[in-house]
Amino acid sequence: MTFNVDRIRQDFPILSKSNRGKPLAYLDNAASSQKPNCVIACLAKYYKEQNSNVHRGVYALAEEAEIEYQQARQTIADWLHVSTEEIIFVRGATEALNLTAHCFSQSKLKSGDAIILTQMEHHANIVPWQMVAKEKNLKIKVAPIMNDGTLDLECLSKLLREEDTKLLSLCHISNSLGTINPVEQIIKEAHDRNITVVVDGAQSIPHTRLDLKKMDCDFFAFSGHKVFGPMGIGVLYGKKELLQAMPPYQGGGDMIDQVSFEGTTFAPSPQRFEAGTPNVAGAIGLASAIDYLSNQNMLELAQHEDSLLQFAQTELQKIKGLKIHGNAAKKVAVISFSIEGVHPHDLATLLDSEGIAIRTGHHCCQPLMESLGVTSTARASFAFYNTMEEAERLVDAVQKSASILC
Ligand code: PMP
Repeated sequence: MTFNVDRIRQDFPILSKSNRGKPLAYLDNAASSQKPNCVIACLAKYYKEQNSNVHRGVYALAEEAEIEYQQARQTIADWLHVSTEEIIFVRGATEALNLTAHCFSQSKLKSGDAIILTQMEHHANIVPWQMVAKEKNLKIKVAPIMNDGTLDLECLSKLLREEDTKLLSLCHISNSLGTINPVEQIIKEAHDRNITVVVDGAQSIPHTRLDLKKMDCDFFAFSGHKVFGPMGIGVLYGKKELLQAMPPYQGGGDMIDQVSFEGTTFAPSPQRFEAGTPNVAGAIGLASAIDYLSNQNMLELAQHEDSLLQFAQTELQKIKGLKIHGNAAKKVAVISFSIEGVHPHDLATLLDSEGIAIRTGHHCCQPLMESLGVTSTARASFAFYNTMEEAERLVDAVQKSASILC
């Protein structure tokens, strides 16, 4: 069957909503994605028919919840081509990156070691490293970006060759620029020098079919809500041998082997990193979103998104005074832009009155904004359920708003 956006849109009930009296054009997918009926139904079913705490119940309901929870882990592990021991359920990409920074630095980094980040990182992939750097006296080095919004690979290589570099943490896809980083090539180069690589996959997981074994990253973080799943659930993938060498993140129930007042021993991964009652419904809902994607042709979805990107970029660029930040040849359908003399917030307010939802601000990338010479941008970000008509409405509304605001 060929790609049919109208058929796809029927799976997402919120898309038929109106916004300020106009049909909603939801173009804020980099912030959070909408949910298909199957995910919504799955959450309702869990709370109507399956809800109970997991792990220790002997009654049928608890057994059912446990089976569903572990099946969700299996679905996600299969989707990413890794094993279930390597999949840790967390609250989202932020928690996954905090966990990695904290626990990996405890087990493997020592005073004087250097961590490389890039100029295009989200605060979630900057602040946790700064916190552990302060605690453990680590250095942070930053790989710059080029004018087109791609990574300066030559500078990155230079940093990777420095003796004190022990870890690189970078985004697969930039949430502000849409740039797709050549992570496989970078990981290979880093591994040749025994450097551990953490990939922030928050923005790549909704757009591409990933094989983490092939990518060969050491850690990979993402959030369920950006991949058509529920909020409050996310995943940290880590290579088994690295996870087993790491101390726990939080202490409490479910992450232990034996507890006494003399001391505690810990369960193996993933339980070691999942202290307390987990977000069972969230995990099952995320697996349902992954099942939904498994039933789609991801290549077709990506091609559709790319046609929206090419159209919107070409047309927006024709607007006087409009500048697109990030023109990488390889990018996803995320367009950050500024218009000379127009505050992005005013622009977004006018677009909202036309039913169009975009985001403005620093997009949790203040160091990137600084290097772009702006404090904020307007950002339109597309998903496969967006239509060419919505892209046209965006262009028309930006044009109209610019003529009002300039
Ligand atoms: N990294 C990137 C690249 C992101 O876009 C985001 C969300 N904007 C995050 C990390 C953090 O995700 P969350 O807020 O869902 O934890």
